Amino acid sequence: MIMDVHVHLLGLKPEHGCIIGKKLLRGPAYPLLTRALHLQGTPRERLDQAYADRLIAWTNLSELDAIGVLAFDGVYTKTGELDRDTTQVMVGNDYCIEVCSRSEKLYPICSINPQRKDAIDELERVCELGSVAIKMLPNSQGFDPLNPAYKKFWQRMADLGMPIITHTSFEHTIPPINQMYGRPERLHLALEQGVTVIAAHCAGSGVAHPFHEDFHTWHDMLKDHTNLYGDISAMTSLSRFPYIHKVLDSDLAMERVIMGSDFPIPVNPFVFVKQIGVKEARRLSKITNPLQKNLETFKAIGVPQEIFERGAKLLKL
Ligand SMILES: [Zn+2]
Repeated sequence: MIMDVHVHLLGLKPEHGCIIGKKLLRGPAYPLLTRALHLQGTPRERLDQAYADRLIAWTNLSELDAIGVLAFDGVYTKTGELDRDTTQVMVGNDYCIEVCSRSEKLYPICSINPQRKDAIDELERVCELGSVAIKMLPNSQGFDPLNPAYKKFWQRMADLGMPIITHTSFEHTIPPINQMYGRPERLHLALEQGVTVIAAHCAGSGVAHPFHEDFHTWHDMLKDHTNLYGDISAMTSLSRFPYIHKVLDSDLAMERVIMGSDFPIPVNPFVFVKQIGVKEARRLSKITNPLQKNLETFKAIGVPQEIFERGAKLLKL
C-alpha cells in the first residue's frame, strides 16, 4: 500500500473550524495557493469545496493507495482556551474527518495542541473517529513539547498507539511564535513516554538556514530512540531538496523514514537535474497532478518502494 502521509487540508469557512489570519489572506498566499491547485479565480466562498474535490480527484488519478490528510489546530492560552487573535491557521478535526469520509483512500490525521484544556478528551474522541495519527507544528501552535505538563497527554498517546507527525526545525509557511519549539531535542519527553514520533522533513533546517542544522540531531537521536522516525515530505521542493540525499546516504535513516509530499508545497523536479538529466526533469515537470509528480520525482532519484509503503504500516490504519 503506497501512502503519502503528509497532505494538508485547507479551508476558509468558520463552520469547518477554519481560521486564516488576515495577514495570510491579504498577502500573496491566496493567489499562490489557488494557482498551485489550478483553481485560479475561484471565489473564496467556494474554496473549501474546490480544494477537497481537487484533493480527492488527484488522489484517485495517482498511483497512491492512500493519503494522510492533515487538520491543523490553533494557538491556546495559558488556561487552555483557543486564542483566536494569535491563531494564524486552523483547520477543524471534524471537517478533516468529514472530507476523508468521501473517499476510502483518504485517512484523517487530526491535530491537537497539547496546551488545550480538553487535549486528552479530544485525543480519545478523534481516535474513536478513525484518526490515524496526530499532527502538530509546535513553532506556530506556540507550545513547547518538553513542557512537563504534557506528560500525561504523551502517555495517553502511547497507550492508544497513536503516532504524532510533528514539524521539526524551522517553519516558514505558517507564521511561527517560537522557532526553538521545533528543535528535535524537544521531542524527548514524548519519546520517553513511548510515543511513535515522526519528525516531519527529518528535521532539516532548510536551505534558508545555512548556519544552523537540525538534521544531524535527529539522525543521532535515531540511535537512542527506536520509536523515532522521519518523513521525507517537501524534499522535492526548492527549500528542502538537499535532505533527500542525506537520507539516501544513511542506512539508519533509510530504515526509519516514510514518504510524504507536504502538498500543496510545490514540487520542483529541476532541483535534481544533475542526477536525472534535463529530459527526465522536463518530463516530471509536465505532470500536472502534484501528488503523482512528487511520487515520480522520488522514484526518479532512487527512493525505494519500501519507503513508499512504510507509512501505511506505521500509522494507525
Ligand atoms: Zn506540512
